[in-house]
Amino acid sequence: MSERITGHTELLTLMAYPIRHSKSPAMHNEAAACLGLDYAYLCFDVDQSNLKEAIAAMRALKVRGGNLSMPNKIAAMQYLDRISPEAQMCGAVNTIVNDDGVLTGYITDGIGYMRSLKDAGIDVIGKKITVVGAGGAGKAIEVQAALDGVKEMSIFNRRDEFHQRGIDTAAMLNEQTGCKVSFYDLEDLDRLKAEIADSCLLANATCVGMNPLEGRTYIPDPGFLRPDLVVTDAIYAPEETALLKMAREAGCRTLNGQGMMLFQGAASFKLWTGMDMPIPHMKEMLGFRW
Ligand code: NAD
Repeated sequence: MSERITGHTELLTLMAYPIRHSKSPAMHNEAAACLGLDYAYLCFDVDQSNLKEAIAAMRALKVRGGNLSMPNKIAAMQYLDRISPEAQMCGAVNTIVNDDGVLTGYITDGIGYMRSLKDAGIDVIGKKITVVGAGGAGKAIEVQAALDGVKEMSIFNRRDEFHQRGIDTAAMLNEQTGCKVSFYDLEDLDRLKAEIADSCLLANATCVGMNPLEGRTYIPDPGFLRPDLVVTDAIYAPEETALLKMAREAGCRTLNGQGMMLFQGAASFKLWTGMDMPIPHMKEMLGFRW
């Protein structure tokens, strides 16, 4: 008889839509099993039509916690009791912790990105970086980088619905952190080239490079890059985006979004269980190539 799920097993949830393709259940259930912890992590189809009821159910069923993904990261905030300072700055949550009926929202995407750099031996503290993208992933990276001690940051976004968000993020970080942040239009390629030339790292936090934009990059030629530049991409499928391929061929150190995904999960896991995810084991299980 299976003893994996018992009457004492604690539930962890992932509420999003669409979500059935997610690797998070495999990651969290493997980590829990590996550490002998009695948790089960399950996906639920939740969008704005049933989010309020789903969060009320977390309270009613005393669910220990969970993750939120699109389209719930912003909408969920109104149903929670507390929001962490980082999530407050991001205006979004991806993790809920239920402490005896008090639901607190956290954001771990930016932590995941910064830990993935550290894990790869890349040091950006006290230095200048350029981040392209001011959507959910971009803002999480920008907030955490500024909080962790990046000295200077240039944010770029094209003129779309995220443009004003980028301007607002730069203003907020200049006011609330010690990081000097500038915002530019992604259409200004001369400025993009100059800011990259002045940075130790270029981060892509847009969906350019991923289906349906697979094979594309906004960097017009390898002359924008140089061998001592680190280039990262939040995208992990494909494993090597057009940007990372161009960067690798230009001699740059490159890093895809697998680490960000793993370490945001590890940070959530720690919030729920108090335990560190077994990172080497998880890397092997997720088929990491770095
Ligand atoms: P979002 O919808 O919030 O933001 C989209 C961003 O892409 C915006 O900055 C937008 O301006 C930009 N963009 C879209 N089309 C563009 C184009 N044609 N040219 C230039 N810019 C364009 O999405 P998000 O949640 O921030 O996700 C962005 C990327 O980050 C996605 O590829 C996602 O898979 C990835 N991501 C990875 C992780 C991880 O753990 N590795 C976590 C979150 C998101």
